Amino acid sequence: MQRLQDQVALVTGGSSGIGSGVAVCLAQAGAKVVVNYSSSADGAEAVVDEIKGNGGDAIAIQADVSQEDQVLNLFAKTDEAFGTLDILVNNAGLQKDQPLTEMTLEAWNKVLSVNLTGQFLCAREAAKAFIRRGVVPEKSCSAGKIICMSSVHEVIPWAGHCNYAASKGGVMLLMKSMAQELAPHKIRVNSIGPGAIKTPINKDAWETPEAKEKLLNLIPYNRIGEPNDVGKAAVWLASDDSEYIHGITLFIDGGMTLYPGFATGG
Ligand code: NAD
Repeated sequence: MQRLQDQVALVTGGSSGIGSGVAVCLAQAGAKVVVNYSSSADGAEAVVDEIKGNGGDAIAIQADVSQEDQVLNLFAKTDEAFGTLDILVNNAGLQKDQPLTEMTLEAWNKVLSVNLTGQFLCAREAAKAFIRRGVVPEKSCSAGKIICMSSVHEVIPWAGHCNYAASKGGVMLLMKSMAQELAPHKIRVNSIGPGAIKTPINKDAWETPEAKEKLLNLIPYNRIGEPNDVGKAAVWLASDDSEYIHGITLFIDGGMTLYPGFATGG
């Protein structure tokens, strides 16, 4: 039996980058996958096609995770398509980088509404669905699993990105508080904290050789991560192999959180 056999997973922002890597890996482990997207229908359909090409099952559903009515519709459509939900990967996120003194309220609100409010709205709906259904022992020891896509910037401050760092710091305590509250329902809640993963969100940081060299100075393991690195960890966190892991952030960062600036002891 595959690790996620007969389980249904919803991946928000699944049409590109880390979300698409996670969606493909979850499907390879046996899950039926809902690939959520906000604007890139083509990107989502390409992920669905890849999953189906590998013999898996997936559908694409549009919703802006920062809009409550659209999130409710996303969960209703997921239920219509697959009848249940076992795994939520709260992945959708964006950056709108500006120096603090030039940051507009619009840029602040946009990042907080997608990266933090979006995670709250989706987690709330997933938790309701998990509690309604309860544990199905043939599938999993847990009633449901929530994985929040955080960042190394839930702990590392980031000048020029106050809105983004604040959103991920918020995700950390949202995740931990949900973990505390939902444990009696046998719902597991954890985060993944990626370092630098090669995706469209941080293209400027790896596109040119100069930018790449600068970025590698921050990564002791000396390579940029790939969406697949996160996908494999998401499968583990969603499976019963990690049944006793609850309320943690798993950093997937090649050591970025080791404060490499102090490597020489200086
Ligand atoms: P990406 O830009 O490829 O993916 C982000 C996805 O979120 C896109 O598919 C986008 O369409 C979607 N999205 C944006 N706004 C949305 C909305 N309102 N509703 C639904 N979907 C929406 O970037 P990525 O690197 O794959 O980012 C995925 C997650 O990983 C984000 O939460 C990001 O903060 C986090 N992360 C990425 C890195 C990295 O190095 N790439 C590092 C740390 C954390």
